[in-house]
Amino acid sequence: MLRVGVTGGIGSGKSTVSHRLREHGAVVVDADQVARDVVEPGQPALARIREHFGDAVIREDGSLDRPGLAALVFPDPAQLRVLEAITGPAIAERVAGLRSSAPRASVTVFDMPLLVERGLWVREHLVVVVDAEVETRIRRLVEQRGLDETDARHRIAAQASDEQRRAAADVVLDNNGSPEDLVAAVDHLWDTRIAPWNDNLVRGERSRR
Ligand code: ATP
Repeated sequence: MLRVGVTGGIGSGKSTVSHRLREHGAVVVDADQVARDVVEPGQPALARIREHFGDAVIREDGSLDRPGLAALVFPDPAQLRVLEAITGPAIAERVAGLRSSAPRASVTVFDMPLLVERGLWVREHLVVVVDAEVETRIRRLVEQRGLDETDARHRIAAQASDEQRRAAADVVLDNNGSPEDLVAAVDHLWDTRIAPWNDNLVRGERSRR
């Protein structure tokens, strides 16, 4: 299995990259999805969030009020650390499970916003960082996702800097241009780096058997 980590700041274009890699045949593990799964009603992490942050972050139907919780934690680094201490281990455990159950011959993509912050990038064969100017990302998040601008800035401030991410990268994909440019860069990456490497790995696996 070839393990590819895809990371980048909020709104950088990670989902666009992972989606295209899936179209090329990769198995994608989406850490944002896992982060949502571990706080579903009935999950231990949700009970701990309720204990710490109170009933105000729980909706009437028992589900987590994600925007309400985000409004509490993103402006306050200490509260964000508490939340991460609750959800982090549950997320790590689930990702580890998905990692071990991925087909051996696959290219598995770990789409993880906090790959660099958590030091997890060291375990991947190839670390792909999606990069776009902060102001461009904020504009896209506000215009296309309807995010509040202050909220977007708080979230960016809570993440690693572009320099820190670039330092961990094997490949930087520039997403300051059009979505089509980004997709073309992913296709090039697949053809030149990922597919040949994976073919070699699979051949090596076969010859060891
Ligand atoms: P998040 O961190 O929130 O998960 P992300 O890094 O996965 O975001 P995307 O969801 O791929 O980023 O992109 C963020 C937003 O910007 C989306 O609405 C997407 O459609 C848009 N977008 C991505 N790339 C471009 C581009 N090159 N030009 C214009 N809009 C773009």
